[in-house]
Amino acid sequence: MRIVFLGAPGSGKGTQAKRLMAERGIVQVSTGDLLRAAVAAGSPLGRQAKAAMEAGELVSDDIVLGMIRERLQERDAAAGFVLDGFPRNISQAESLEPVLEGLGQPLDAAVLIDVDPDVLMKRLTGRRTCSVTGKLLNIHFSPREELDACIAAGGTLEQRADDNEETIGRRLKVYQEQTAPLIEYYRQAGLLRSVDGEGGPDTVYQRLLAALGA
Ligand code: AMP
Repeated sequence: MRIVFLGAPGSGKGTQAKRLMAERGIVQVSTGDLLRAAVAAGSPLGRQAKAAMEAGELVSDDIVLGMIRERLQERDAAAGFVLDGFPRNISQAESLEPVLEGLGQPLDAAVLIDVDPDVLMKRLTGRRTCSVTGKLLNIHFSPREELDACIAAGGTLEQRADDNEETIGRRLKVYQEQTAPLIEYYRQAGLLRSVDGEGGPDTVYQRLLAALGA
């Protein structure tokens, strides 16, 4: 299965992609995760990307396209992949097509995870990652036991540098202006599926499987 996840920041793309990876053996390719790793490593690419990420703007198409091209050539991606956070604009979507064609791996679907903007803000401001288990949690929505389990394991609940209100507002605006047009792009290509992204992660996952016919 080769799919693209569309959806605003906080729509649950990462959570759902990780579950598909764990349960279906499909590789999650998140340009956000790849960029954060490059920033943390202090690589030249990371240094170039850092300012745009902190401002909630998009990193240049060249940088992310290079990363995607490299990642999709790795062996594990041959079994299927879910692109999480890429493409982010029409130009990236157009550039992706010849890359996938060259690999002989065209997309099966583009899945929109649809969430109301008011819900997104609460999800994003509350989002945390457990420093020990890497589990994605939310201080507003996760069960108390799951939050406590992270602390009990010696972990801390870490917030992404760009999950503050000012940057979140900018990211949501960038999504509306640059990424949302991809919905129509993939609709016209006959690839679009839409999933209601409100509710708990399990509920959304079941809807996702149904939409993919999986
Ligand atoms: P994400 O984890 O997908 O929310 O991405 C975090 C940040 O990384 C975004 O706000 C952008 O600055 C950058 N980023 C991630 N994916 C892309 C992409 N496909 N194109 C440009 N910038 C990206």
